Amino acid sequence: PIIEARSLSLYYPMPKRAPSVRAVHEVDLEIQQGEVLGLVGESGCGKSSLARIMAGVRQASSGEIRYRGRPLAGLTGKEKIQAKLQIQMVFQDPFASLNPRMNVGEIIAEAPRLFGLIKTDESAFISEQMERVGLDPAYRLRYPHQFSGGQRQRIGIARALAVNPSVLVCDEPVSALDVSIQAQILNLFMDLREQLGLTYLFISHDLSVVRHLADRVAIMYLGRIVEQAPAREIFERPNHPYTQALLAEMPRIVTRQRTFSPVEGELPSPSNPPKGCHFHPRCPKAMPICKEVMPKLEDIDTGHLSACHLNEKTG
Ligand code: SF4
Ligand code: MG
Repeated sequence: PIIEARSLSLYYPMPKRAPSVRAVHEVDLEIQQGEVLGLVGESGCGKSSLARIMAGVRQASSGEIRYRGRPLAGLTGKEKIQAKLQIQMVFQDPFASLNPRMNVGEIIAEAPRLFGLIKTDESAFISEQMERVGLDPAYRLRYPHQFSGGQRQRIGIARALAVNPSVLVCDEPVSALDVSIQAQILNLFMDLREQLGLTYLFISHDLSVVRHLADRVAIMYLGRIVEQAPAREIFERPNHPYTQALLAEMPRIVTRQRTFSPVEGELPSPSNPPKGCHFHPRCPKAMPICKEVMPKLEDIDTGHLSACHLNEKTG
């Protein structure tokens, strides 16, 4: 794997001895070189926190990230900078993540300039980076507010790619965009993957977004991975009742955009998760054991993992 998470947890301490919020709980994840891993779950399930830890943007409470087999935390100096540059992030809201006082050329050239990565003429460098994401280099002196949402996301992608990364961690990169623009940006991600051999951790609340992009899909619920499998398996033979519920709602998700509630019932508070299987209050297949015992994430088929007591039934 090019990047792996080992038993990653993230807790937010709460004031007044309230229970801490477990945003991410003992997550193991591996992404192979050149692979697209789709990470899907409702908002509040911990996927953005996981994304930020994987990208080295924030620290985990425990566990570790390995890049090409080496713990990121153990790297120092030049090696640390190198590894950090190799993993770049694309954010949900490109507008919020772009400095409004910098023009596009400056935004794109800032990090590569800082790290001495521009070997040619800077103007030619910026043109090349803009063209690669489908932006007209003639607009390099314009500011973020002068672009549409889709163009702004292209700027965000160009900025991430300008330091020549191997891995892109994309946190809901199309969910703030109109449906018609979403397809264009998703196509851009696919083209870039082919041209540059990129590896993606691609996060979405929407299974239909990762459908055409992901090689493998991991489903997250209340800070844990509950199912993980090749994309085809997830769509054709979903095992976990939560994945099944997400799939059943898919066509509605597409039309309702961001205000959907994909599964019956509310996502419980991560500061006070239900005992046993966290999904049991909403699960149509819940059994008595589900209220008591947390199911383990286990192999149910080659490369197909699921955390559900239904798989433990012996015949
Ligand atoms: Fe539903 Fe029980 Fe499986 Fe949890 S363990 S998903 S409650 S059947
Ligand atoms: Mg999020």
